Amino acid sequence: MCGKSEKTDAEWKAELTPMQYRVLRKAGTERAGTGELLHNKRTGTYTCAGCGADLFASDEKYDSGCGWPSFWKTSHASNVAERVDNGHGMRRTEVLCSNCGGHLGHVFEDGPQPTGQRFCINSASLGFEEE
Ligand code: FE
Repeated sequence: MCGKSEKTDAEWKAELTPMQYRVLRKAGTERAGTGELLHNKRTGTYTCAGCGADLFASDEKYDSGCGWPSFWKTSHASNVAERVDNGHGMRRTEVLCSNCGGHLGHVFEDGPQPTGQRFCINSASLGFEEE
């Protein structure tokens, strides 16, 4: 990883799988329950599928039952950006990779303590590096 990724749309399209492209670059959402990493319980680091930035640690993942990989915290807060998303008639907080700007998912305030947060993240946005 070497600073901000500034790729053209065509470069992203060529580099990512169609699902990764739809989620990361077009803010799409994978179908609930389908993500490859949804039930992953191995120890390691979840990374951005677009640029490889570290996003979440495996001990920050929990089973929220919502159908997407869920995290109650990020130990890599400088790589995880948030912004207001008023799309689809809802007011939500979008979660993005701050390195490449890729869409990751949303964060909700109904997570477990001590943070009370639920980062609801598309599996397609994530890579996983096992320890
Ligand atoms: Fe990224």
